[in-house]
Amino acid sequence: MGAKTYFVTTYGCQMNEHDSERLAGMLETEGYSQADSPDEAEVVVFNTCCIREKADQRLYGNLGHLKPIKDANPDMKIVVGGCLAQKDKATIQKRAPYVDVVLGTHNLGSLPRLLREAEHGPAFEIVEQTETFPSALPSRRSSPWHGWVSISIGCNNSCTFCIVPAVRGREASRRLGDIVAEVEALVVDGVVEVTLLGQNVNSYGRDLDGTPMFARLLRELDRVEGLERVRFTSPHPKDFRDDTIAAMAESRTVCEHIHLPLQSGSDSVLRRMKRAYNRGRYLEKVHKVREAMPGIAITTDIIVGFPAETDAEFDETLSLVEEVGYDGAFTFQYSPRPMTEAAEFADQIPKEVVQERFDRLVAVQERWSLKRNEAVVGRIEEVLVEGSSKKDASRVTGRTRTNKLVHFSDDTAAAGTFRTVEVTSASPHHLEGALVGGPRRDPRPTLTLPLVSATSGCSSCP
Ligand code: SF4
Repeated sequence: MGAKTYFVTTYGCQMNEHDSERLAGMLETEGYSQADSPDEAEVVVFNTCCIREKADQRLYGNLGHLKPIKDANPDMKIVVGGCLAQKDKATIQKRAPYVDVVLGTHNLGSLPRLLREAEHGPAFEIVEQTETFPSALPSRRSSPWHGWVSISIGCNNSCTFCIVPAVRGREASRRLGDIVAEVEALVVDGVVEVTLLGQNVNSYGRDLDGTPMFARLLRELDRVEGLERVRFTSPHPKDFRDDTIAAMAESRTVCEHIHLPLQSGSDSVLRRMKRAYNRGRYLEKVHKVREAMPGIAITTDIIVGFPAETDAEFDETLSLVEEVGYDGAFTFQYSPRPMTEAAEFADQIPKEVVQERFDRLVAVQERWSLKRNEAVVGRIEEVLVEGSSKKDASRVTGRTRTNKLVHFSDDTAAAGTFRTVEVTSASPHHLEGALVGGPRRDPRPTLTLPLVSATSGCSSCP
C-alpha cells in the first residue's frame, strides 16, 4: 500500500458531493494524494447519506468489504462522515468496530485532527452546532469548469418524511459577500458554471436579514464577469417568490431550468407531509415561472405511497403531473425513516400497492419526458461539454441551459467548452445532436485540479 493516499466515496445528494470535495481538499492539504480505489488507500472516507434505506445497506456492505483489507494493512484508517454518521454514531461503532474515525455534518473541518487522534484509538466526534461553514475549508474540486457553492446549510422546515433537519440542523446562511467572493475565485480558476446549494435556497438570507435574499444573490452573481451559467437546488415551492422569478428571468447567467419538488399533487397528502403549500399554489408558481421564462424546463421530486395515500389521492398526483408536463422527475417509493414523524404514522401502504402506483407514475412521466425532449428537436442549443459519452467514447456529452443531456460528435470538444448544436432526435432521457459551431471558450490547460480555499475571512453565521 502506498503511503499518504486517500479515497473518498460519496453517497446521496449534491450537498454531500460539495462536502466530499472539502474532505478531499483537507486531506490534500495534509499531503495525501488520491488513490485509484479504496482498497489501495491509506485513508478511506465514506461520506454518507441517510435519506434512503439503501444508503445504510451500501455503507455497511462497503465497510464489510474493507474489513479483511484493513486486517492485512493495520495502517489503513477508515472514516465515516456525513448524515448517517451524524444520526448513527453508536450503530456504526457497534456494527463496524474497526472504523477509526466518525465525524458528523457539523464538524467536517475536524478530519485532520481526528485522523491524528485515531493513531491512538478510535476517534468518534459528533457535534450539534456547525463549527465552520464547509465552504471555508480547502477544496479539491472534481471538475475544473463546474463548482458546487453552498449558500446555506440546515433547514427550518419540518416535512414529516424528512430526516434532514435532524442531521443538518437549523438553517444558517453564508454572508452574501463571501458567496460572491467564492464564485469570483472559482471563475478565476476556470469555472464557468456554478450550482448554488441549500436545503431550501429560496429562504437564503432570512436568518441574516429577516427577509429572503436569494433574488438579490442571483442578481449579484449575474454581475460576475466570466461566469456563464448559474443553477441552484433546491427551491421550496412555498418560498419560491415573485422576486426570485423576476431575478431568474432578468439574469443572463441563470439557466432556464428549475427543479421544483412537488412530492404530492394531493392537498390532503401535502398537509400530512407538512409541506406548507397546496396544489393550487404550486400550480400558480409553475404558471408564473413559465410566463416569465417561456421554454424553461421544469423537473421535480415525487413520493409515491406516503402513509394513508388513497387511490384518489394518488390520482391527484397523476393529474398534476399531466397538467404540468414535467421535463423530468425523480420518483421515489416512500419508505419510513427513523427519527421522522411519518415513520410513526398509521396506514403504511403495502409494498405491492406502492409498486403499482409507482409504475403508473413512471409511465406517465416517461411519456412527458419524451414529449418535452421531442419539442426541442430541430432547435439550435448552446451546449456545455462535459466529456466523452459514457455509452460511446467516440461521441461527447454536454448539457443545454435547460439541463438536457445531448450526445454529439466533435473530435475537438474539450470538457468545459461551449458548442452550438442542432438537436436531431430525442428520447426520454437524452437528446442526439449535430455540431453547428464552437468552441466559444478555449479549454483551460488544467491538468491538476486546484486546491481552492473558498472564502476570504470567516463565513460562519453573523
Ligand atoms: S424542506 Fe422539507 S424535504 Fe427539504 S430538507 Fe427541509 S424538511 Fe427536508
